[in-house]
Formats: sequence, C-alpha cells, structure tokens
Amino acid sequence: MTEKNWQAIKICYCQHIGSEVALEAELIFPPEHLPDSGPRVGAHRCSQGLNCNLDGRPSCIWAGTNPTVEPFSEGL
Ligand code: SF4
Repeated sequence: MTEKNWQAIKICYCQHIGSEVALEAELIFPPEHLPDSGPRVGAHRCSQGLNCNLDGRPSCIWAGTNPTVEPFSEGL
C-alpha cells in the first residue's frame, strides 16, 4: 500500500511572522511490492502557510497571497 507523509526539507527565518518555519515536502512511498523505486514528491507547503492565510495580510507564495515573495529562496 502506498504511504504518504510530510517531511521538513528546509528551515528558514520568516520575517512575516517573526519565527522559523519549515518548507515541507509530501513524500509518497511506493507499495511493498515495488521496493526498488524511491519516494516521489507530491507537493510542497510551508509549515505555517495555513495560519498565514488567516491573518489577513499578503505574505508569500506558500500562503498563496503574494507570488513575488519566496522566503525559502532568500539567502541562496
Ligand atoms: S507561508 Fe510564507 S509568509 Fe507565511 S510563514 Fe510560511 S514562509 Fe512565512
């Protein structure tokens, strides 16, 4: 049976909320009868993206309210 879980793949300080946040990836693991294939990435999200959608201020691409700001790419 296929399994899915979310794992943090990058941590950064978010100035919008004044705290560290995680970029998370949804990993989809293959069923047991396909053990040689690795996990696939289904989606990405910010660990605080849902809360950002509720505070009424434009924030970033991960909250879906400002596509020009991508906090996880800053400092690269
Ligand atoms: S969704 Fe964007 S603005 Fe909101 S906490 Fe995450 S990185 Fe920061």
